[in-house]
Amino acid sequence: MTTPVSIAGVGGVLLDIEGTTTPIAFVHDVLFSYAKTHVADYLAKHSHTEDVRKDIQLLRQEHGVDEREGKQPPLLAETGSPNEIESITNYVHWLVGLDRKSTGLKSLQGKIWREGYSEGSLRSQVYPDVAPVLARWRNAGLNVSIFSSGSVLAQQLLFAHTEAGDLTPFINNYFDTSTGPKADAQSYRRIAEKLNLKPGEVLFISDVVSELAAAREAGMKTVLSIRPGNQPQDFADEYPLIHSFNELAP
Ligand SMILES: [Mg+2]
Repeated sequence: MTTPVSIAGVGGVLLDIEGTTTPIAFVHDVLFSYAKTHVADYLAKHSHTEDVRKDIQLLRQEHGVDEREGKQPPLLAETGSPNEIESITNYVHWLVGLDRKSTGLKSLQGKIWREGYSEGSLRSQVYPDVAPVLARWRNAGLNVSIFSSGSVLAQQLLFAHTEAGDLTPFINNYFDTSTGPKADAQSYRRIAEKLNLKPGEVLFISDVVSELAAAREAGMKTVLSIRPGNQPQDFADEYPLIHSFNELAP
């Protein structure tokens, strides 16, 4: 379908990140590899802080589960031993290789990204239409919110440090999977409620049809995002599609 999508009557726009505002390759190739490359340095600098100790504790628990389940993770050295950081680094690399999304790993990655962004060695990407359209939506009084599997911290960091500048002034709310899975209609009902909008007043944009199906089941308007590098989707023709936010008629 290529009929222009009207956003008349819409009070809020809910956006996915990967494949919608930001190239999937940025998240996978740049962001995850940045965290992987910098984990050893980051731990060497910060492993004594309480926050990072908490992440290490979570990773140790996860490691225990992996061992009990016979997954043969790389060995972890004792707390405080000279090899501790190296062994945790190896375990983190192993988890990243498995695309694991556990709390300890996500929390540690978020901290590594935060440092990279604040030092200026990391900049995030958005498609060229994103910044001007977010500004336009915000000026028109629309609520602009994000729903992504990345943590709220990671989302805020990403939009605060884009190559197009700080976009957080245009964004009202951030939701991650603590609200619920992205393919579950209940998550979208909860989000609409938190936005003080009826589901039918919210337009959800994503590159993944299972997410659109869940939002549609909850009563939201939905649009499929087609961007270079996105995965082709089954049942894509059930949804209006856009290649740029500029295609959304005001
Ligand atoms: Mg996506």
